[in-house]
Amino acid sequence: MSYGKVAIIGLGLLGGSIGLAVAEHLPGVATTGYDADPAVRKRAAERGLAGTICESASDAATDADLVIFCVPVGAMETAAREIAGSIKPGCVISDVGSSKQSVLNALTTALPGAPVIPAHPVAGTEHSGPDAGFASLFHHRWCIVTPPENADPAQVETLCDFWSALGAKVDTMSPEHHDLVLAVTSHVPHLIAYTIVGTASDLEDVTRSEVIKYSAGGFRDFTRIAASDPTMWRDVFLNNKDAVLTMLQRFTEDLTALQRAIRVGDGDTLFEHFARTRAIRRSIIEEGQDDARPDFGRGDHD
Ligand code: NAP
Repeated sequence: MSYGKVAIIGLGLLGGSIGLAVAEHLPGVATTGYDADPAVRKRAAERGLAGTICESASDAATDADLVIFCVPVGAMETAAREIAGSIKPGCVISDVGSSKQSVLNALTTALPGAPVIPAHPVAGTEHSGPDAGFASLFHHRWCIVTPPENADPAQVETLCDFWSALGAKVDTMSPEHHDLVLAVTSHVPHLIAYTIVGTASDLEDVTRSEVIKYSAGGFRDFTRIAASDPTMWRDVFLNNKDAVLTMLQRFTEDLTALQRAIRVGDGDTLFEHFARTRAIRRSIIEEGQDDARPDFGRGDHD
C-alpha cells in the first residue's frame, strides 16, 4: 500500500468510517479531514476521525497521495473545485458516492488532468453524520471500483489494495454498469421503501398508531430503509436518473403481472414467482451477505 497521506473530504458516516478504518488497519498512513460544517469538524476532532482536521479542503488535500470525497453525490463538483489549486501531481482523486457516471463527470470537470478513479463501498447504515462512523463498516462488504477507460492500471491496483486493507472485498466494473446494477439492488428498493412507508402513513382507514403497533409484518424493515438520509437519497435519484427509470419500468411491468395474477386468482404464477425469489434470498445468505436467523437475528418476535 503506497499512499503516505490520505485526505478525506466530508466527515459523516462514510468519511468518518474511512478515517477510523485507516487508523486501525493502516496506522502508517497519515490522514487529514475536512467537512464544510464547522460543528462536524469539531465533532470529528473529538472522535479522532482523521489525524488532522483542517479548516479548508485545500489544506486537507495539500501533499495528499489520495483524496476521497465523501459528500453527497450532488455536492461532489463543488467540493472538488475547492482543492483544484492545491493537489500535487499524481494525487489520485476518488470518492464513495452511490452513483458513478455522474460523479466521474463531476470530478473530471472540477479537476481536469487529475487521475480520477471513483469507487463505491457498498456498505452503510441508515445513520449519518460524524457520530455514525465506525472502523469496521467495510469489513466483508464489497467496494466497487469504477475506473474510467484511460485509468492507469497501477493506480487502480493501489486503490483496490487500499480498500482491501480496510477489510473490503473489491470488484471493478465500468461506471455505467455499476449504475445499472445499483439501480436494481439498492436505488429502486429504497424508492419502494420510501413509497410504501409514505403510503402507509397517509392511509385514512388505518390509523398511524396501528401501522406502528403492527409493524412486524415486513413493514418494519421498510421503515429502516426509509429512514435513510434525505439529502443523500435525493442526490442519488437525481444523479442515477436513467438507470433508475429503466429499472422502475421493468419493476412496474412485473408488479402489474403479479397484480393481474391476484385479480384472476392465478395461484400458480404467484407460487412460482415466490419460489424463485426465495431461492435468491438463499443465495444471498450463502454468499454471507445477510443473516439467516429468524427476523434477521433481532431476537424479539412481536
Ligand atoms: P453524511 O453522513 O451526511 O456525511 C456527508 C458530510 O459531507 C456531511 O457532514 C456534509 O455536511 C458534508 N459536506 C457536504 N458538502 C460538502 C462540501 N462541499 N465539502 C465538504 N463537506 C461537505 O453522508 P454519508 O452517508 O457519509 O454519505 C457520503 C457519500 O457516501 C454520499 O455520496 C453517499 O452516496 C455515499 N454512500 C453512502 C452510504 C450510506 O449508507 N450512507 C453508503 C455508501 C455510499 P452537511 O451535512 O453540512 O451538508
